[in-house]
Amino acid sequence: MNNKEVNKSLAIKLLGQKIKENREKGDKQPHQIKQADSHDFKKKAPKILSKIKGLRIIPLGGQEEVGRNMTVFEYGEDIVILDMGIQFPEEDMPGVDYIVPDVSYLKGKESRIRGVIFSHGHLDHIGAAPILLKQLDYPTILGRDFTLALIKKKMEDYEKDSVGRLKIINIKNIDQKMSLGSFKVSFFKVEHSVMDAVGVILETPDGTVIHPGDWTIGRDDKGQRTVSYEDLSKLPRPTVLMLESLGALHKEEKHTPDSKIYENLEKIISTPTGKVIIATFSSQVERIGKILDICYKLGKKVALDGYSMKTNIEIARQLGYIKPAKDVLIDMKEVSKYPENKIVIICTGAQGEDNAVLARIVNGNHRFIKINKHDSIVFSSSVIPGNERTIQRLKDNLYRKCDNVIHTDIMDVHISGHCNAADIQAVIRQVKPDYYLPVYANHFFLKEAAKLAVEIGFKKENIFILDNGNILQLHNKKAEIIKEKAKTDYIFIDGLGVGDIGQVVLRDRQVLAQDGMFVITVIIDSKTKKISGSIQITSRGFIYVKENFDLVNATKEVVKKVVAKNTNKDDKSKINWVMINNEIREEVGKYLFKKTERRPMVLPNVIEI
Ligand SMILES: [Zn+2]
Repeated sequence: MNNKEVNKSLAIKLLGQKIKENREKGDKQPHQIKQADSHDFKKKAPKILSKIKGLRIIPLGGQEEVGRNMTVFEYGEDIVILDMGIQFPEEDMPGVDYIVPDVSYLKGKESRIRGVIFSHGHLDHIGAAPILLKQLDYPTILGRDFTLALIKKKMEDYEKDSVGRLKIINIKNIDQKMSLGSFKVSFFKVEHSVMDAVGVILETPDGTVIHPGDWTIGRDDKGQRTVSYEDLSKLPRPTVLMLESLGALHKEEKHTPDSKIYENLEKIISTPTGKVIIATFSSQVERIGKILDICYKLGKKVALDGYSMKTNIEIARQLGYIKPAKDVLIDMKEVSKYPENKIVIICTGAQGEDNAVLARIVNGNHRFIKINKHDSIVFSSSVIPGNERTIQRLKDNLYRKCDNVIHTDIMDVHISGHCNAADIQAVIRQVKPDYYLPVYANHFFLKEAAKLAVEIGFKKENIFILDNGNILQLHNKKAEIIKEKAKTDYIFIDGLGVGDIGQVVLRDRQVLAQDGMFVITVIIDSKTKKISGSIQITSRGFIYVKENFDLVNATKEVVKKVVAKNTNKDDKSKINWVMINNEIREEVGKYLFKKTERRPMVLPNVIEI
């Protein structure tokens, strides 16, 4: 078990206890904890709402990171929300599964939420839906088929029968128009690496927002852009273009057409020297569908692995989005029945995720798949910013075990779902917005995206780079960031707990992960006020006690001194245990630092008998 796992199992145990206690109090199910959260949440609602002028744009996440995308649009009494995504934890957040946006700003405003629109089905856009929709009393949700199917699946996985509580508007037709309170809502088609991505237009009397969600623009075989957004320049002004900016640093014009990717994949699959393992994103349903077709044509058998991979393909199959030929898909258990060079495995884990399929295959922990030198491993994926190191480690391990590792630096086996710098400039030129807001990426991407706009003559004063929680107000044709700010704390999710991991718990975890813990148990006789028996020391992740007797014994002396100083046999008054505990913690902490320059968590446990 690594530190993360230790912490996690600890947290799960504690949580299990909490659930048990709640059950004993009469609660029926674990999710009651969260329900309690959402009740509190309403109780604390502010009674007086500040008067809102014009249109407000409030990003609750996604402006300082990749992930946790969620934007609130507020006009008068009406609120429309775009996306509810999760963010994956940073390295200094041990044991945290993921992070969801903080929706405190919406406290007391639940009944004013007219709709939550989901731009597409990636986790950084829908992953927080089960938790946040519940917290917000299940407002109406909007999305296209595949996105909605993924959300429903997520909700059922999180809490059985919760889908029944949803009010759903299916965007069946991209030209559909509707009103959500005073917002006039319409949609436009965008290209992205998942099916059914949709761009959103929100019209209000004070301004029109244009938001494509995540986007890219493909190229045809002649290298020409396959989409134009010129129509969006005709919308009622002032217009605000909110443009996802992850590609702002991709200056290279090179853009491989889809057909080339499939040609390359077919080449790899048709001439294998062993089995072929393709790691890709589970949301790349269209690509997986095409690979299945290629495999069928070449007489190969395909086994899918990874929970999200299998469920996504099943959903896509039910919606008729992919139609795999009969018998091309086989169960993982059947793989050994076929010659190796007939087998293609499509799996998750290309981002180096700890427990994903690819990591298990590489580490030799997969039940059915072992890597051989002559196999081929294809990374049909790009690196999500922040995952570089983990992926590098994974690649190193793969190169040790296999001679044919193929990734985009070697051959075009993936195109990114994100635009490049030239695309950003092209879209700004086509849409001609009055205001430009780079969004959905780390701060430095947003700044770079802003530079791209300035380069093509866009007025600097009409560009706004918002932080999470900033409020941009559009009123009387004027846009400004107002003083008020929405709360956007990290809400950590660990196991079943929502937001119960605060900064204190996290700091403890960081200390435990870095320097371990040092537990001192002292028994004091209440009559003699003397230490009874020997002092017990337990250490985890700090030093190995059996190899450090000197240090352990010296520490015991420190403890004895503290106890002696604070207990006087003749003094009839009660011993102050809290003070002894604190002093032991402090003195032992200082002593251990002096000797080791490490700061383990010191936990004194003084018992009186
Ligand atoms: Zn996306």
